[in-house]
Amino acid sequence: MPEQYIQVAIPVPMRQLFTYQVPEPLSHPSIKVGERVAVPFGSRKVIGIVIDAQAPCNFERSKIKSIAGRLNDNFNLSQSLVSFLQLCAHYYHHPVGDVFQQALPILLRKIENITLSPPMVWQAQSPTEDSADMLAKLATKAAKQYALYQIINSRNGISWVELRTLGYSKAQLNALHSKALISEEEQIVSQFTWQEHTLNEADKLVLSSEQAIIVSAINNALSSFSCHLIDGVTGSGKTEVYLQAMEEVLANNKQVLVIVPEIGLTPQTLSRFEQRFNVPIALHHSGLNDKERLATWLSAQQGSAAIVIGTRSAIFTPLHHLGLIIIDEEHDSSLKQQDSFRYHGRDMAILRARQLNIPIVLGSATPSFESLQNALSGKYSYHQLHNRAGKSIKAKIALIDMNQQQVEFGLSGTLKHEIKQTLARGEQVLLFLNRRGYAPAINCQECHWLAQCQRCDKSYTLHQKQQLLICHHCGSQRRIPPQCPHCGSVRIAPLGQGTEQLESRLEDLFPESSIVRIDRDSTRKKGELAKLLQEVTDKKHQLLVGTQMLAKGHHFPDVTLVAVLDVDGALFSFDFRASEQMAQLLIQVAGRAGRASKPGRVLVQSNYVDHPLLQDLVHNGYHHFAHQALSERKQARLPPFTFQALLRADANYPSYPEKFLRALTQHPIENCEFAGPVPAAMEKKAGKFRYHLIIQAKSRKALHHGILQLLAQIPNNEWQGKIRWSLDIDPIDL
Ligand code: ADP
Ligand code: ZN
Ligand code: ZN
Repeated sequence: MPEQYIQVAIPVPMRQLFTYQVPEPLSHPSIKVGERVAVPFGSRKVIGIVIDAQAPCNFERSKIKSIAGRLNDNFNLSQSLVSFLQLCAHYYHHPVGDVFQQALPILLRKIENITLSPPMVWQAQSPTEDSADMLAKLATKAAKQYALYQIINSRNGISWVELRTLGYSKAQLNALHSKALISEEEQIVSQFTWQEHTLNEADKLVLSSEQAIIVSAINNALSSFSCHLIDGVTGSGKTEVYLQAMEEVLANNKQVLVIVPEIGLTPQTLSRFEQRFNVPIALHHSGLNDKERLATWLSAQQGSAAIVIGTRSAIFTPLHHLGLIIIDEEHDSSLKQQDSFRYHGRDMAILRARQLNIPIVLGSATPSFESLQNALSGKYSYHQLHNRAGKSIKAKIALIDMNQQQVEFGLSGTLKHEIKQTLARGEQVLLFLNRRGYAPAINCQECHWLAQCQRCDKSYTLHQKQQLLICHHCGSQRRIPPQCPHCGSVRIAPLGQGTEQLESRLEDLFPESSIVRIDRDSTRKKGELAKLLQEVTDKKHQLLVGTQMLAKGHHFPDVTLVAVLDVDGALFSFDFRASEQMAQLLIQVAGRAGRASKPGRVLVQSNYVDHPLLQDLVHNGYHHFAHQALSERKQARLPPFTFQALLRADANYPSYPEKFLRALTQHPIENCEFAGPVPAAMEKKAGKFRYHLIIQAKSRKALHHGILQLLAQIPNNEWQGKIRWSLDIDPIDL
């Protein structure tokens, strides 16, 4: 019997696969690609994934270790997922073992055996006279319990994870259970068979002709790759197009993957999927625990889930019969992972659709310049929805010139007046300020000493409620000093304004109104976001203060006034993407507000109201703005007309990263240009000094080859051992 060797991806930051031997007793049944095996690595034992089951042995045989064991469970990866993950590693030049590591649920990266309890779902009990009475009472006395009952009743079994994600609580569920209106049962796992009774016809809408054309364009070629960009303002009917395009796919017993930026902010979208299709839906997002995550993974793989809805990493779920991918809000920057494996969920989704020969649909009211350019150049099918479906009316944006105004607590006189009027009409107001905390700095009013984080050279943010100074860049904290450490004065005061301060100022200005703040600090606790959003919908609060978080997905029908307190930062940023992001933010904010009978208004405060970017956006709209900006990018040879990678380097000493990067630029790379090295926008962060080098090329292929050459240089670089470096392909923040 010849010896058998395999190649294994191991969770270590090295760019190679490792060869192991399979000892005779472990070689039956034969090892397959995608299998998880336990292997010795250094002094540890780790889980590796078999990438090649019949590898040649290119090393001295006596040096090759044997695998320690096979997991023998049902949790192996399919050949197709293995190839996809290899493609991802290749595209991002990222260590392959780390890609596999990040794509796998945590429990599958551990050696211990896993026991999972059977999946349970909630079901409505058959109606009785008693239950009819009880329901009638609930409908008037406990609206939330009633709504929960309705959703359980409309589905043939729904999991606690789904209900929780929709914003319901255990208490509400228990209340219905104790009234014997619902019961918990073991889910009957069907595999890839959900074509019967898939659709709840009740709330299906008749498509407009614009919508119908898109649905048929998608459905016409379900067994080949195509990429569709649906470009339509909020409320133009994109979600309805997704839903109807999915029907045919599900009817063919194929699965659908839906990727959204943040599920907690879009429970309304989620509940539309839940209500339309009576099929098992699995969710994948940061609110799940490890077991729940694995359960989603398994239900996708084994085919009990027909639809997987999740955030960016859902792209790695092992859907066996995937037939369609949908990316909602494709412009959203949260689709890109911003550390270690810096992949873009949208771009990897396109890669996967191409690999599987299936269609993919991107939707947005403010398409990313990348997608827009691909649509305009004919690479994607471009579909515009020109009219708002339903009856709502588009919000109007107006500018407030801060130079002409008396300003108090960051609020102009005009804005204060408008807030008053809106509140008097019984409507709600939403105020955006993209700075959490109380104040972005504190200083001494006598000697102007500024409290700064030593590790970042940036001012500490004051968090009044916690009585702490927190660095928003490295997270370090310290107490507020009672007096100035420099001159001893006790006149230490906050400088500038954050959401926490705005909230407390508004309490003074509008004592009659209830104010709610929604930002990362106020929603840290699990379930808190859903709770606050519900309180807003129930009109418990009249004034909402929030950060960028509030620009996503969530719709507030009774908000009729939205104000953006400060856009100026984005107008003068050195990052060429800042204006694109600012435009997207303003248009997204505008889309959050109003309804047919009460259209929304958006007021934007600026010291530079004549700035051409603002003027263009306000008067001509996103598309005009985007076309203009695209032609500027073309002239300046910037993405999406060129392709970039960013090499980041940091070290404890200021000169090392620069020297490391500069040494690399001494070897010209064919068909690529270097920009830099330059200090990062935040040159010092968490005690490290940081430098950037941009590599740019006219084609993706040239960039890819250039990076390979660059990576080959690194081992020869004398500074290599003294710094840390990482590579970011298609960076979105510089
Ligand atoms: P988007 O996803 O673009 O924000 P939606 O699909 O959510 O848009 O549609 C916005 C509103 O219009 C929803 O209330 C939806 O029910 C309604 N709507 C969508 N399509 C139609 C249609 N063809 N006929 C009537 N109402 C529609
Ligand atoms: Zn001082
Ligand atoms: Zn810091």
